[in-house]
Amino acid sequence: MSLIFIVDDSTLSLNALSHLLESEGHKAICLKESTDAADMISEARPDLLLLDVVMPKLGGLELLGELKARPGMDMMPVIMVTAKTDAEDVRAALDAGAFDYIRKPFEAIEVLARVRSALRTRHYMERLVYLSEHDGLTRLLNHSTILRELGRSLEALSTPGCGLTVVMCDIDYFKRINDGYGHQAGDAVLIALGKLLIDAQGATGIAGRYGGEEFCIILGGFDRAMALRWAETFRAVVEAREWEADGRRLRFTMSFGLAWTESGEGRNSGEILAEADRRLYLAKGAGRNRVVAADQDPVTAT
Ligand code: GH3
Ligand code: MG
Ligand code: MG
Repeated sequence: MSLIFIVDDSTLSLNALSHLLESEGHKAICLKESTDAADMISEARPDLLLLDVVMPKLGGLELLGELKARPGMDMMPVIMVTAKTDAEDVRAALDAGAFDYIRKPFEAIEVLARVRSALRTRHYMERLVYLSEHDGLTRLLNHSTILRELGRSLEALSTPGCGLTVVMCDIDYFKRINDGYGHQAGDAVLIALGKLLIDAQGATGIAGRYGGEEFCIILGGFDRAMALRWAETFRAVVEAREWEADGRRLRFTMSFGLAWTESGEGRNSGEILAEADRRLYLAKGAGRNRVVAADQDPVTAT
C-alpha cells in the first residue's frame, strides 16, 4: 500500500481518482485547495502526488515548483493530471520536475499503469540512495555518508545543547582473526559488530564504517562524561562477548579515540575526526583495549 495525495479543484476528478487508487489498495488523500497543500504534502511525505494543472488560486505548476524546492521532496514522483493537451504544456510540466503526465478525460487502466510505473521508479530510487549511503557488508553508513552526517551534525550544533562526540574505534589485531580463522570469519565479525553498533548507537547516535575494521560513531546529545561512559561500556561489551564467526567461537577487543566539542568552536569535521583518530592511535600505542579521550592522558580508561 502506498500513500498517494491528489490535489485537484474538481470534486468529480478527486472522487474518480481516489476510488481508482483505493481499488489497487493504496491510501488516497484528497486536497481540493492548492494553497496550503505544499505544507501538508511535505509534512506527510507521500509516495506519490497526482496534481491538477489548472486550479483557481495556486496552479499545479507553481505548486510543483514550490514542492520540488523543499528539502527531501525531490524523491516524490508527481504525475500531472490535466485537461490541457498541448505539447507545450506537457513540456512545461516535465521540465518543472513532473515524473509523468496524464490527460483528462483519463482511462482508469492507463492511470493505474502510470501510477505503478511512478511507484516502481520511486522504489528503485530509494534502493539506489540506500546502496549509495550504506556499507555493503555491515549495512552501517559508509565512509562518505558518515562524513556528510558529521558535517551536518556540526552545523546543527550552533543551537545550544550537550555538544557532539566523535568516536573512532578499531578492532585490535583484526588481521590475526583473518589469518587464524579465514576472511569469511573476519567478515562475519564485522557484520556482527555492525549490528551491535546499530543497537548501541541509540536514538541520537549515528554509526558508520570508516573503512576496514575501523568505525566512526557520532554521539549527539551526550555531554563529555556520558560519551566517555558510552565508549567504555561498548568497549567492555565487546571484550566480554564470545563471538560466533563462521561456526567458530572467538574473542577480540577494540580501541577507542574520542573527540568532544561543545559548540563546534569553529572547527571543521576534518579537525575533529583527526583529533579522535590521533587518540585512537594513542590507545593502540598504550596497549590497545582502551578508551582515550584526551591527548595528555592515553590511559583514560581500561
Ligand atoms: P591493530 O590492532 O593495530 O589495529 O591491528 P590490526 O591487525 O587490526 O590492523 P591491520 O591494519 O594490520 O589489519 C587490518 C586488517 O583488516 C587487514 C585487512 O585485510 C582486514 N580487513 C579490512 N577490511 C576487511 C573486510 O571487509 N573483511 C575482512 N575479513 N578483513 C578486512
Ligand atoms: Mg585493527
Ligand atoms: Mg585498521
